[in-house]
Amino acid sequence: MYLQKISIDTMQRCMADKSKVRVKGTLSDDVGELLPYLNGVFDKTIYNHKMPKLEIEFEDKSHKIILTSKEVRVDRLSNSSQGRQVLDWLKEKINEIYAQQDQLEPDYKSLSNLKVPEVYKHLPQLNCAECGEQTCFAFATMYVKGDYDLQDCPPLFTAEFAEAKEELEAYLQEAMYKQS
Ligand code: SF4
Repeated sequence: MYLQKISIDTMQRCMADKSKVRVKGTLSDDVGELLPYLNGVFDKTIYNHKMPKLEIEFEDKSHKIILTSKEVRVDRLSNSSQGRQVLDWLKEKINEIYAQQDQLEPDYKSLSNLKVPEVYKHLPQLNCAECGEQTCFAFATMYVKGDYDLQDCPPLFTAEFAEAKEELEAYLQEAMYKQS
């Protein structure tokens, strides 16, 4: 076993859906070099090799995992015990991939393929600054650099912008698939 432990550090309400929680945790061992392998194993991912950071979106959208070399965040959880289950599952998955590394192909599909104007086009364009940036264009720029998650833009998760969000997610997936 490579990864010994993932501990939970904090739990807070999800910004996009207040009925859900998110947990943040720390990994006992550095998994940075395994992220391209995890990227190759899961279907719905957004990977940033520069940081490195990997987002794993589950098919049923029940939750999302955001993983860096030593830290993890899990969004859209019903409670902290579900967070514990997801982190235990993730630890097993990482150790499984570590054990099979020689037979797997790393996948370096990267977020850096994204175009700022394309991301901007699908944002709410309210310039409300809720994300911490003064304009949506600034947010799009920082998003492409890997500094934000979509969840950092709360208006995008309202019914009013549901279609824009779907289009943006479709673009993210499409941009990712173009990467060799
Ligand atoms: S929170 Fe969303 S809508 Fe508001 S400025 Fe940031 S990106 Fe634009």
